[in-house]
Amino acid sequence: MNESHSFSIKDDLDGDTLHEECGVFGILGHPDAATLTALGLHALQHRGQEAAGIVTFDGKQFHTEKHMGLVGDHYTNPAVLAKLPGSISIGHTRYSTTGEVALRNVQPLFAELEVGGIAIAHNGNFTNGLTLRRQIIATGAICQSTSDTEVVLHLIARSRHASTTDRFIDAIRQMEGGYAMVALTRTKLIAARDPIGIRPLVMGELDGKPIFCSETCALDIIGAKYIRDVENGEVIICEIQPDGSIAIDARKPANPQPERLCLFEYVYFARPDSVVGGRSIYVARKNMGINLAKEAPVDADVVVPVPDGGTPAALGYAQQSGIPFEYGIIRNHYVGRTFIEPTQQIRAFGVKLKHSANRAMIAGKRVVLVDDSIVRGTTSLKIVQMIRDAGAKEVHIRVASPKIFYPDFYGIDTPDADKLLANQYADTEAMAKYIGADSLEFLSIDGLYRAVGGEDRNSARPQFTDHYFTGDYPTRLLDKNGETAGLKLSVMASNG
Ligand code: AMP
Repeated sequence: MNESHSFSIKDDLDGDTLHEECGVFGILGHPDAATLTALGLHALQHRGQEAAGIVTFDGKQFHTEKHMGLVGDHYTNPAVLAKLPGSISIGHTRYSTTGEVALRNVQPLFAELEVGGIAIAHNGNFTNGLTLRRQIIATGAICQSTSDTEVVLHLIARSRHASTTDRFIDAIRQMEGGYAMVALTRTKLIAARDPIGIRPLVMGELDGKPIFCSETCALDIIGAKYIRDVENGEVIICEIQPDGSIAIDARKPANPQPERLCLFEYVYFARPDSVVGGRSIYVARKNMGINLAKEAPVDADVVVPVPDGGTPAALGYAQQSGIPFEYGIIRNHYVGRTFIEPTQQIRAFGVKLKHSANRAMIAGKRVVLVDDSIVRGTTSLKIVQMIRDAGAKEVHIRVASPKIFYPDFYGIDTPDADKLLANQYADTEAMAKYIGADSLEFLSIDGLYRAVGGEDRNSARPQFTDHYFTGDYPTRLLDKNGETAGLKLSVMASNG
């Protein structure tokens, strides 16, 4: 399922997918733009394994390559990279859990407008995307997809401003929610982050050429230098000048608001070697484990991480508690999502394909299992059984984040409130019983805040986006009926 062509307007996407976990990368003015983009996307592979796309501009025309599967499956092929000439490039790696898995769903999205072509790669989710889309359709426009990213292209197309940059800014000013975007025109690379900076985006530089990417690990892989984070509400426009130099113009079109990065980037999403918001993800996760051991100690013989997400927190828990850390679960790194998903029969084996018990470290022991989060409880349920089958005497679960009561609408894939384990059981004890654990404890919200930012949660002005734990959504939820959605969810959570 590959696609290769120079652009037409039909590069639409997105069936019914609204929740996307994605990684973005863009570079301007470098002769190896596409190769560097492919490498950057490879480093961001954890943000999306379903498909990857790259768009370049070679001075005459735009080129695109979109492929299902992992970045390394396609973009290591010299023939594929040869179809992406040019020194401006943006790329996107995508993962969606709902909606059609199809090539047409793959970003970047492109549109040929009267002011010239523009391609956009977007990580996040707009909370008013459907509302705007309905308004656009009501004017007689045809939407090629249900993607809210396509809405941005429509808004750019209908903007009355003269330049592409002003049109882009005009469009994103109308969008609400969480987004980190890179866009490419014939001469420009544009980066934009939502007004409170829910999704991360950093700026780097290689050989004097600007780069924007979701996480610093994508700079490290190509030996690029980190310059700074794109600020919340900031739009940075990098443009190649007639003399070949690059002009950089940073603007803040949105009303200034305090930054509130998504806590889930720290809990689960970002790669441990990345630095997000100036904080090492690894250090934050290890601190979560340290705080968890202080808050929820247990007599045990061995601390075992649920790999890979739980590993830094388990190290912190072991360090703080003095209980030895061991790899009691071995993860098979060659299991792709596509392999475990296609049929129910295979899905049932899912966790065994991915994780297996290391009996030598478990049999006869009191085990503390440390995981980063419990969402639906699927992983915990299966892993506790696996650890018991391997002869563990006791199994205690310690979770390095609070209970998740509320769904996310900003680009992290969490299910509806009623699918969240915390909403299905009256209390922690009942959850533990369902999972089959001897005990279960979660990190407190203040414990998490201290692990990441060094201070307790400021309830009057929370330093991070944390609605999945608290119900405090940082923006309106227009598509979900705003305030009423929040109200309903609060009632559910208090029952849970
Ligand atoms: P669950 O099995 O549904 O309780 O999900 C929790 C497990 O999935 C943990 O081991 C996490 O490392 C992982 N996880 C947490 N959030 C996500 C997410 N948004 N997408 C995929 N996996 C996740």
